[in-house]
Amino acid sequence: MTSDDCLFCRIVSGELPTELVAQSERTIAFRDINPAAPVHVLVVPRRHEPTIGALAAASTEDLADVFALIAQVTQQEGIAEHHRLVFNTGSKGGQSIFHAHGHVLGGKVFTER
Ligand code: AMP
Ligand code: ZN
Repeated sequence: MTSDDCLFCRIVSGELPTELVAQSERTIAFRDINPAAPVHVLVVPRRHEPTIGALAAASTEDLADVFALIAQVTQQEGIAEHHRLVFNTGSKGGQSIFHAHGHVLGGKVFTER
């Protein structure tokens, strides 16, 4: 399922431009437009599911591919040994775009929880 009014579906389809970092058959990775760290990449399954939990329930293959592409991105960006992964879930969890995605953050020292 895709959604015409889903921003990340429009990026996945190529309708909206983005700074692509990596991609696979099931997943794409692009730079966050408002970076919270020197490296801030969003890893997004091509399949539209609202949350990472919904993606896990829908397709273990898509879920596994998200993590495989995260590993590739951290290697490419030189942060494989030092980075932070964030999956905001639900509006109260800080999620603003309801198409599952992981934030890969790096290039700085994280101290706060
Ligand atoms: P979240 O709050 O976890 O749903 O994360 C959504 C993220 O998408 C935020 O960090 C935004 O800065 C980012 N974002 C919003 N629009 C775009 C865009 N067009 N291209 C890249 N990142 C975006
Ligand atoms: Zn979507």
